Amino acid sequence: MKRYNVCVIKGDGIGPEIIDEAIKVLDVASNKFGFEINYEYFLMGGAAIDVFGEPLPKETLQNALNSDAVLFGAIGGEKWDKLERHLRPESGLLKLRKELGVFANLRPAVIFDELIDASSIKPEILRGVDIMVVRELTGGIYFGQPREITKDRAFNTMVYTADEIKRISKIAFEAALKRRKKVTLVDKANVLETSQLWREVVVEVAKEYPEITLEYMYVDNAAMQLVRSPGQFDVLLTENLFGDILSDEASMVCGSIGLLPSASIGGKVGIYEPIHGSAPDIAGQGIANPIATILSAAMMLRYAFDETAAADCIESAIKAVLKDGYRTRDIASYGAKEICSTEEIGTIISDYVRNDER
Ligand code: NAD
Repeated sequence: MKRYNVCVIKGDGIGPEIIDEAIKVLDVASNKFGFEINYEYFLMGGAAIDVFGEPLPKETLQNALNSDAVLFGAIGGEKWDKLERHLRPESGLLKLRKELGVFANLRPAVIFDELIDASSIKPEILRGVDIMVVRELTGGIYFGQPREITKDRAFNTMVYTADEIKRISKIAFEAALKRRKKVTLVDKANVLETSQLWREVVVEVAKEYPEITLEYMYVDNAAMQLVRSPGQFDVLLTENLFGDILSDEASMVCGSIGLLPSASIGGKVGIYEPIHGSAPDIAGQGIANPIATILSAAMMLRYAFDETAAADCIESAIKAVLKDGYRTRDIASYGAKEICSTEEIGTIISDYVRNDER
């Protein structure tokens, strides 16, 4: 029997609640599809600061490096916001990404028909929207040197190498091959030299993928087009800062933040996590929506373990659960027949996975 080792980082706030539900569903799926998952639990973020005085303890990093995948909830909270930057929870996550070498962040933004009214966009514009944002994760202005802040002046540096652009572009083109075969490169090539290099490199990579249509769009236009006509996008490829902003916009076009998963891949081990944060305002109340985390677990099965049937089963179970009117509180205004707690909806999804007759 195939066996996978997963480093589980529950994190802070709602992290523990939503991860427990993802594991509940994974247990049913692994049993049904004939593989085993071995979970090891480690601390990161605020929880790690409280115990070890640092956001990414060595043992967490070591286990993550030795695992087949990292399943992660969320980190952060007011309690740790005033610490020096390198000691804050998010520094732990940035360091983990860097150490694992994950340079590609994949964020699907998909409309669930049953929740189409949860978006502020008109249903006729939204129906059928299915976007994969591929964001570069380890380069650009967030990491560029030099950087400095003094009392009356501050600066950051946006820097990219051709190799960095090439490797993320390949991930975007490969993803497009399995989808509707279109890549939109989003940049600011009319102003930024880094964007000019992106265009030159992406055009070269595109020659290896003649079946893919490549389009270009300036980032300001892309921000507008995402709300005006999101159906035009298939794979949206972009650098770190633009991707950070546009992936949030794309997800909000789709409605609730509690529904959207992500995968950070390209290095030795991938990280699978919901796009939302630790939601301290609702932590511990049993009302968090675990679906984004369960979908992230499905991405882990698909991308890290190649367990496609199990991933498909979880995704269709979630669609069926939403179709049958089960909702957590955040999406209760849209077609709810029954309002469920975090734990209840996790159990219902795992029952649907168990009873799926594929
Ligand atoms: P957030 O995503 O945690 O919450 C934004 C809003 O969405 C809140 O009202 C919250 O209740 C709601 N929400 C989020 N996830 C939900 C879910 N699963 N179910 C129902 N409602 C949900 O963003 P924030 O409030 O800006 O940040 C809170 C903390 O999370 C901060 O410390 C921030 O730094 C951290 N954060 C962490 C990550 C991460 O770990 N990857 C990402 C973003 C923010």
